Amino acid sequence: MKVLNCTTPGHFEYQDKPEPASRAGYSLLRIQKVGICGTDLHAYKGRQPYFEYPRILGHEVAAEYVSGDAPDIRPGDLCTFLPYISCGSCIACRSGKTNCCSRLVVCGVHLDGAMAEYYLVPSPLIIPGENLSEDELALVEPMSIAAHAIRRAENIKGKQVLIFGAGPIGMCTSILALQAGAVVGLADVHAGRLAFASSFYSIHTFLNRDPSHFINEVRNWTNGDMAPVVIDATGNLQAIESGLQYLAHGGQFILVGLQKEAFHFSHPEFHKREATLKSSRNATRKDFIRVRDLIKNKTLSVDPLITHRIPFGVVAKQFETLYDPGNLVMKAVIEF
Ligand SMILES: [Zn+2]
Ligand SMILES: [Zn+2]
Repeated sequence: MKVLNCTTPGHFEYQDKPEPASRAGYSLLRIQKVGICGTDLHAYKGRQPYFEYPRILGHEVAAEYVSGDAPDIRPGDLCTFLPYISCGSCIACRSGKTNCCSRLVVCGVHLDGAMAEYYLVPSPLIIPGENLSEDELALVEPMSIAAHAIRRAENIKGKQVLIFGAGPIGMCTSILALQAGAVVGLADVHAGRLAFASSFYSIHTFLNRDPSHFINEVRNWTNGDMAPVVIDATGNLQAIESGLQYLAHGGQFILVGLQKEAFHFSHPEFHKREATLKSSRNATRKDFIRVRDLIKNKTLSVDPLITHRIPFGVVAKQFETLYDPGNLVMKAVIEF
């Protein structure tokens, strides 16, 4: 079978490898679509900390089920899977928080991912497709990350939620927040991304170019209260450190984006709000099933998110174009 291996930062190589052999406890998948994630874009550029090469990338998958012992699925059915392998015995796993397992292994990060014609996954990770399209299945993973962030924010119905970053995770989070009944504001420095967001979804957008203008806009939008929930989906240090000033008293600040530096807040600013700060990492099976069912019931519309499609055979040649801001990539999908 053909695989696409990221041999060193900035270099992809198509290689022939033997098809993985089925074994007990695992399921064999024929890959149909793979969504390209920020993780893949950073890994290819060598900007992903603790990343080892060579590595086959890809963890946002729509696949045909070939064989194995996963329940509720038959050969020929479509599916996706949770790309997070949790240990099942650490303190986080014992309390059901498999998403932040202390020994978590992520497919396409710590071990080879799905940019390959066939892929073998532990059967308990399989999520049956239940009539979702291949496009929809490829979007279940990023939507689940967002669903988890919204779950971390708890009761947001009727509340104003201010989301920073109109990239794929910020967009997915906005969509899930809308679905949960929130009033969504989305801030970004790129006008093109905001135009994309507001053309498909009823989201209030903020062009965050001039901080003093922006804070006034948020103040007006919230009637002077500021936002009861602020979610950072930029993974940008400056955005995270400045995020607190947009938070209402008694509010919650959720970090779904990740960067690698220490961040600082003014303690009095944090204290006077009695603010709650939470991180949101990956997603659980419950989030995946919820997203799949919301898409299945037509409660969530995710199709607008796919803006670019690349045939598997030309990914190596076309990957660089995904970094060009002028191309306005929201979600690019590899097609097999
Ligand atoms: Zn992803
Ligand atoms: Zn664990």
